[in-house]
Amino acid sequence: MEKSLACGDVVPGCKAVLHGKDEKEVLDRAAAHAKKDHKMETMPSDITAKAKAAIKDKH
Ligand SMILES: [Zn+2]
Repeated sequence: MEKSLACGDVVPGCKAVLHGKDEKEVLDRAAAHAKKDHKMETMPSDITAKAKAAIKDKH
């Protein structure tokens, strides 16, 4: 099932929504987005944990 992650659930105020075919792909895209738009070279483990918790099944 496709998954989505609202970046705003992790980084308040961000309007980006990342989609992927599974959790790994969503996290990969979130990492790329965080690097580009949030200046995070690598996602800290607490952010990764928050992101994982915020991933939802796409309807
Ligand atoms: Zn963001």
